[in-house]
Amino acid sequence: MAQTIQGIRGMNDVLPQESSRWQFFEQVTREWLAAYGYSQIRMPIVESTHLFIRGVGEHTDIVEKEMYAFEDSLNGEKLTLRPEGTAGCVRACIEHGLLYNQTQRLWYTGPMFRHERPQKGRYRQFHQMGIEAFGFSTPDVDAEVIVMLADLWPRLGLSGMSLELNSLGDIEERAAHRAKLIQYLEGYIDILDEDSKRRLYTNPLRVLDTKNPDLQEMAENAPQLIDFLGEASKTHFETVKALLDDAGIAYTLNPRLVRGLDYYNRTVFEWTTTQLGAQSTVAAGGRYDGLVEQLGGKPCPAVGFAIGIERLMLLLEINEVAIPAQLPDAYVVHQGEAAARNAFTVARQLRAAGLNVIYHGGSGSFKSQFKKADQSGARFAVVIGEGEVASQTVNLKTLIGEQQGKQEIVPQDQLAQVIRSI
Ligand code: ATP
Ligand code: MG
Repeated sequence: MAQTIQGIRGMNDVLPQESSRWQFFEQVTREWLAAYGYSQIRMPIVESTHLFIRGVGEHTDIVEKEMYAFEDSLNGEKLTLRPEGTAGCVRACIEHGLLYNQTQRLWYTGPMFRHERPQKGRYRQFHQMGIEAFGFSTPDVDAEVIVMLADLWPRLGLSGMSLELNSLGDIEERAAHRAKLIQYLEGYIDILDEDSKRRLYTNPLRVLDTKNPDLQEMAENAPQLIDFLGEASKTHFETVKALLDDAGIAYTLNPRLVRGLDYYNRTVFEWTTTQLGAQSTVAAGGRYDGLVEQLGGKPCPAVGFAIGIERLMLLLEINEVAIPAQLPDAYVVHQGEAAARNAFTVARQLRAAGLNVIYHGGSGSFKSQFKKADQSGARFAVVIGEGEVASQTVNLKTLIGEQQGKQEIVPQDQLAQVIRSI
């Protein structure tokens, strides 16, 4: 036997017994996105590496150490497997003029790639569903996207999610805070770890995001961005909070919530759970008014979020959320060459009438075929032997429910109608 080839570490197969959960998520979210007026956009998985350096930020974890960046071996182009969806979405909107004098509410979904240490809820290929709302500068849309997620959890049968909220202010406010923060951090230069030292002058906010236990006290007492907000940013944040209060959505203010991507300003938020250990953030996002211009478009305010689908799948599983099953209506059982041929046609007729039908492939005893029919979860077995071929009928056997075991002879040309009526 030839040697087997393994999948790539941190990149998962979704097996049939799990895929119904993914489909449930996809179905629920499609209705939910439509309820809020979002349209789908589909971007390529590969983009120019430059897009992410400029869009996500040169000094972010993603760009510094998590990107699957490579050179196209045919033409030397610098390419990257997308680590997130926002940069590509903005690139596509600019390229196709979608932001010109108009607003857009867009959603996307698909695989993202980050070279991280794989563990529960953290993979190298993972999936996000995200939304981006372009052209809205007012706080009502910040609130709307947060409320939207609050509305998603019960649709998925999930509860116990918490919301963390912060405001990062605007560019000037961040600059003022940054200066003070660097000054503060310089006072701790002796205890800073390598990561923090490296970020001190490139991305000092991220130093506060450290998970190093020795640095927690220092981080807690650092100057907080929220204290540097000007009137406009403050009012914006107050309105977001008031709208959340009106909607009855509880939140925790977390002044240390800075997010791992550079493009955010004003509102940032994370929806978290206590059920997934360290991988606690299920959805995250915020406002990023500067990104469109930074990527070469005309200035355009924007707000969005991304949901980590694998983490949601884990939550559905842990909480034993019942997933509606897609079971076949009928399993077609046959015996003998003529019957097999006739059954093949009958199965097609039933499908043409809108039923979900499994045709027993190959041959086998009635007994083993019935066993498969039972295992399939089908409501009916459609049984065709030599006699049924001759009379152009089938023996319709009920496999589940009150009528279980009931058998009746049904003309083939009435079969679909009879199954539908039961
Ligand atoms: P984390 O702090 O967990 O690394 P992040 O801040 O890097 O998350 P974002 O870039 O904001 O995450 O992505 C949004 C969501 O995508 C996250 O909240 C999470 O649910 C999911 N996500 C991010 N990275 C991964 C990964 N490597 N594997 C699985 N899901 C992920
Ligand atoms: Mg991360």
